[in-house]
Amino acid sequence: MAPPVDLTTPVPPGGTLGIIGGGQLGRMTALAAARLGLRSHVFCQSPDEPAAQVATALTMAPFNDLAALERFAQAVDVVTFEFENIPHESVRHLAERVCVRPNWECLQICQHRIDEKDFLNRIGIPTTPYRRIDGPPSLALAADELGCPSVLKTTRLGYDGKGQVLLRGGEDAEAAWAEMGGSEGILEGFVGFEREISVIIARGPDGTHAAFDPVENIHRHHILDRTIAPAALSKATDREARRMAHHIAEAMGLVGLLAVEMFVTGDGRLLVNELAPRPHNSGHWTLDACVTSQFEQFVRAVCGLPLGSPLRHSDAEMRNLLGDQADEWLKLLHDPSAKLHLYGKAEARPGRKMGHVTWLKRRG
Ligand code: AMP
Repeated sequence: MAPPVDLTTPVPPGGTLGIIGGGQLGRMTALAAARLGLRSHVFCQSPDEPAAQVATALTMAPFNDLAALERFAQAVDVVTFEFENIPHESVRHLAERVCVRPNWECLQICQHRIDEKDFLNRIGIPTTPYRRIDGPPSLALAADELGCPSVLKTTRLGYDGKGQVLLRGGEDAEAAWAEMGGSEGILEGFVGFEREISVIIARGPDGTHAAFDPVENIHRHHILDRTIAPAALSKATDREARRMAHHIAEAMGLVGLLAVEMFVTGDGRLLVNELAPRPHNSGHWTLDACVTSQFEQFVRAVCGLPLGSPLRHSDAEMRNLLGDQADEWLKLLHDPSAKLHLYGKAEARPGRKMGHVTWLKRRG
């Protein structure tokens, strides 16, 4: 394999950011890029996708179409991703032709729940105990070892609770394995957490870094419902959450944005649940409540521009608008403390992220 292409100079105004993926994270990234005078070229499947609607240019092809990836690489200055589940071959093909940030190793770690937890433990970051599962017999054994409750998850492509089964004890291993619906799984010890938080940190090519304030995330049916900024944490826990996020970003050599989801246990410990090497739903509040939003920070980091201030000028509460909750748009537009963001999705299927709303409050 040829060595990956790197960029030694920042992408200047007029340059083009390549974004793989056409969802709402790509849309808000493209809008932030435009505000910095940059163009965005989105690689996606249809012109109706949220990011495609606001991009300067589009390549529409499957993620494994190497010829299309090659044309895309020629048309942009730097490539990034708005989701991490893209085939290994495709990233390698791109990285030989154009600067790709974050690098392949970061994506690989975050694509696989066991690789992610192995990596975290190797660098001294605590997680809940876990076991690799390859079928009902290993599930039965692991459930005995870890005890119940425990959570069975697919190792790849699971998000928003998809591919997850809660084991309360006494379940049939065959049935639980079938319900998970994958060829490889991970069994995790269930964490009786006090709250869930996340830290989003940006890291530039020169190693400079900036983290947003830790926030509290409240899930409903495994999907993020609300984010409260800032999280009500002790000074020591706040400091430790930031330290962990920085340590992980450094150890990965990440250039871009890293979201670190953590559980806070009743006795004040932090356990990392999941990583995302991109903007994150729990950072949407930064659009309205910080000097620099997570999307602008992401663009700055991957384009090699100086990082902006992550300072929070207001406290905030963000709520996702799922499915027909987005029908409230007119009422929300009448609310003077609400900032409405809609993603341009035509069909409001149940549970689909259609938009979000952020309420600003005076800083506490
Ligand atoms: P995930 O897809 O891993 O982010 O899981 C979605 C949500 O399920 C998390 O945000 C938690 O609310 C819950 N969850 C996942 N894993 C665990 C665990 N090991 N213990 C307790 N709750 C969990």
